[in-house]
Amino acid sequence: MSDSAIRVVAEKCVGCGVCVKACPFGAVKLEERLAAIDPAKCTLCGACVEPCRYDAIELRKDTAAAQDLRAYRDVWVLVEQIDGAIQAVTFELLGEGRKLADALGMKLCAVLLGSNVSGKARELIACGADKVYVLDRPELAYFQDEPYTTALVGLVRKHRPNILLSGATVIGRSLVSRVAVSINAGLTADCTGLALDPQTGNLLQTRPAFGGNIMATIVTPNMRPQMATVRHKVMKEAPIEPGRQGEVLLEDIASELLKSRTRRLRFVPEVESTVNLAEADIIVSGGRGLQKPENFALIRELAEVIGAGVGASRAAVDANWMPYSHQVGQTGKTVCPKLYVAVGISGQIQHLAGMSSAEVIVAINKDPEAPILKVATYGIVGDLFAVVPLLTQAFRKLGG
Ligand SMILES: Cc1cc2nc3c(=O)[nH]c(=O)nc-3n(C[C@H](O)[C@H](O)[C@H](O)COP(=O)(O)OP(=O)(O)OC[C@H]3O[C@@H](n4cnc5c(N)ncnc54)[C@H](O)[C@@H]3O)c2cc1C
Repeated sequence: MSDSAIRVVAEKCVGCGVCVKACPFGAVKLEERLAAIDPAKCTLCGACVEPCRYDAIELRKDTAAAQDLRAYRDVWVLVEQIDGAIQAVTFELLGEGRKLADALGMKLCAVLLGSNVSGKARELIACGADKVYVLDRPELAYFQDEPYTTALVGLVRKHRPNILLSGATVIGRSLVSRVAVSINAGLTADCTGLALDPQTGNLLQTRPAFGGNIMATIVTPNMRPQMATVRHKVMKEAPIEPGRQGEVLLEDIASELLKSRTRRLRFVPEVESTVNLAEADIIVSGGRGLQKPENFALIRELAEVIGAGVGASRAAVDANWMPYSHQVGQTGKTVCPKLYVAVGISGQIQHLAGMSSAEVIVAINKDPEAPILKVATYGIVGDLFAVVPLLTQAFRKLGG
């Protein structure tokens, strides 16, 4: 390492010692109340730079470009847990991560951040993880951007994964974008497909682009880790193998590094009118064809009778007929139910992007040329105001 790649600015350093705690390699110590970096131990990871509130450590930007890519190994999956419950997207990422790790001859590792979560590591191993890195701290009891970012950045710098996958969820999107900026890595958001370049082993990250009209495949050849967020319900969940063996590695971090400028005052769960859309087995969705918000009552009634969640097209959401949380499609939720009923929805590509992997699609539309009828398993060409009440009535009779 060149002496000038990283340096302590003596005039700015106050000797607080935060950098000493931040360094995962024991390369920083205090000498005469000033930070001193041991060049033999320093890997130029930059972990000491960010926590310094006095900008007293300088790391030359071009050193990042000199990353030795071979030092980066393994496929990591960021575990998403809420109150200790591992979210389904994690199991989908483990399923996909397992395939990538096997093809690369690397290990699949899960990264579990939270409080009182260590017991969950076995669940992750049963779903394909070879190793689970656990950071179990009270400061990580619920998601907060700053402590979670510091924790994950620390682990990435210490263990150097080749690939880091996260769910394209509210938490995942917020967290890994901050991590990518901190470590100067690339990030492909909202992927719908992952593969490996057979020549280079680089991760091929595919996602819709230009309003969903084309699929773009993005590669990160020069930086590691290769980071991607993946939509929920796009990949299949990993199979469970009870008794599968793996390693659990308990990590630690200094409390000072887990400070947050924000505090959660209270948690208000969103009230779903029927069932959680992303997890629903049956969904009935309404579009602009319903003409006005009151007519969504037809959709709700049918949904209630067949135990379905209520979805909506963006046109219906933009018109304030339904809340955004019900929007299905490219800029809404991706769903994969057993049955999807599209009522008065034309089936533009951005809507199809969120529901076309449903097992059975039923479309009710008065226009025989509507694109939704081309992807539908069963199409009913007719006036929804006549068809939907008949269906509701028929299912009610069956139910009774
Ligand atoms: C960047 C971008 C992102 C987008 N993201 C999304 C997204 O996430 N989700 C999404 O849905 N859209 C999205 N859109 C918008 C999308 O392009 C369409 O505009 C939208 O899906 C249209 O909604 P719709 O099918 O309800 O309305 P329309 O396209 O107006 O279709 C209404 C349909 O109802 C039928 N109809 C009318 N009256 C009746 C009746 N009485 N009986 C039966 N059928 C009837 C019509 O024949 C027609 O097919 C996005 C667009 C862009 C540019």
